[in-house]
Order: sequence, then C-alpha cells, then structure tokens
Amino acid sequence: MGRPTQIAALVERYDAFFLDAYGVLVDVAGARPGARELLAELERRGKPWCVLTNGASRLPEAAARRWGGLGLEIPAARVVTSGSLLAGHFAAHALAGLPCAVLGPPDSARYVERAGGVVVRPGEDCAVLVVADETGFAFPQDIDAILTALFARLERGDPVHLVLPNPDLVYPTAPGALGLTAGAIAVMIEAALSARLHGRAPPRFVALGKPQAAIFEEGVRRVGTRNALMIGDQLETDTRGALACGLDAALVSGGVSVEHSAHDGLIPTWRLASLL
Ligand SMILES: [Mg+2]
Repeated sequence: MGRPTQIAALVERYDAFFLDAYGVLVDVAGARPGARELLAELERRGKPWCVLTNGASRLPEAAARRWGGLGLEIPAARVVTSGSLLAGHFAAHALAGLPCAVLGPPDSARYVERAGGVVVRPGEDCAVLVVADETGFAFPQDIDAILTALFARLERGDPVHLVLPNPDLVYPTAPGALGLTAGAIAVMIEAALSARLHGRAPPRFVALGKPQAAIFEEGVRRVGTRNALMIGDQLETDTRGALACGLDAALVSGGVSVEHSAHDGLIPTWRLASLL
C-alpha cells in the first residue's frame, strides 16, 4: 500500500509537485490541515508546483479566487483544470468552429468558447456535446433537448463528438453525503443514445482529466521537470494517472476517498497520513 512517509521528506526529495485540490488542499470544511504550510514551504524553497484538478465548472482564475477565500494562495497560472484541456482536445480533433452543446454553469461554456467551440442552446443542432458539470442546467429538460438533437444528427449519419472533461462519477456534497457528478450524467446519456441506434455502435464520451495522461503532461510542461510527485487522495485518478505517466505518486489518507485495498496492483509510491 505504499511506503509510509512524511511530507517534509517528500518536499526534500522531489524537484516539483502536483497537488490534487479536493481531498488534499481543500474539502467541504475549507482548507485542509497542512495545505497552507505546504504551499508556503514549496514557495520558500523555490520548488515549482501546480494544482491538477478534475473540473470544468470554474475557470482557473475563478478556482484560484475561491481557494484564496479559504486562505490558500494559489495563482491562476498554477491551476490546471481538466476544463482547460478542452483547448488541446478541440485542436487535436479539429472541433473549433463547430456547434457545441454544453452542460454546466457559465464558466463551462467559457471553456468551450476559449477552445474555439460555438456554444448553442440545448435542442439546437450540435456536432459536439461537452458534459462539463452536473450543475447549471435544467434536469432532465436540457438533456432531453440535447438527446433529441443528437438523435436527429445520428439519423442523418452526421458525426457526433462527445467530451467529458471531468469523468468523476460521485462527489462529496457535504460531510457524509455524496452526489452524482458529470461522469454519471455522461453514463446516462451514453445509455440513452444506445437505445435508439438499432445495433449501430453508439458514440462514446472521450474523457479528459485524471487519470488520462494529458493533464499530467500539461503539469510537466508547467513545472519543467519529470522529477515531480503527484499528491492525491484517490487511487483511481491521482495515483493511477501519475504512475501511468512514469511519475511517482503519494496517496494522502483522510481525504474524500475511502481507504482502498490495492487493486490491479495499483500501489502508490508513498503513503501520507496527512500533509502535516
Ligand atoms: Mg481528490
């Protein structure tokens, strides 16, 4: 289950750090114990770091402001959200200029616009659907309208591109409470689309964010070294993604994840009881 260690030893050992936000730096109660001190220590030592977070509901500058309100000084330039990966994804798949339906709050639409997409209202013809967040739209009315538009495209044989910046399925909404997240909405839409295709393969969502490689590679680009440690609280996203990219990973206990036993041989490099 990973070698137990202390944060001070890891700060000494690595040249750069990737920090998960939820469950590591913050939780529903605010900044987590040791988070502020860790950021201050990294700054004092001049060790580059950035936050790698699955989410497309807030622009990096909005996330930075929110964390600033919790007492964490995190410049927007140090925030890599999975929403910000939409730009690279749109470029790689030539999606710029196409009509895009977006499920999420206003910042989600801004991510899509920054990526070059033309945001349309639910029900209008859309070549791209971005399921960015579980909030900010009418459930199920907006999904129904988008499904109708997608079915019309599929009937005509027109391509449909589905993107899921945050593949998380559930999220803690309050202490001891869980709610469904964008990934769960995408599962529902895939199931609905498969129901009317009469045996043809349904389009599938392309997931961005952890554990996919793109967010870690963007992190490496920002910190300028691969001798970097990912500190996260989820095996399936933080640990799996970092190890797959050849990076070391520390798993913090006491975050949002329940304690897992190792599965698929997935073992973090390090185990931390806390950031203190
Ligand atoms: Mg987390």
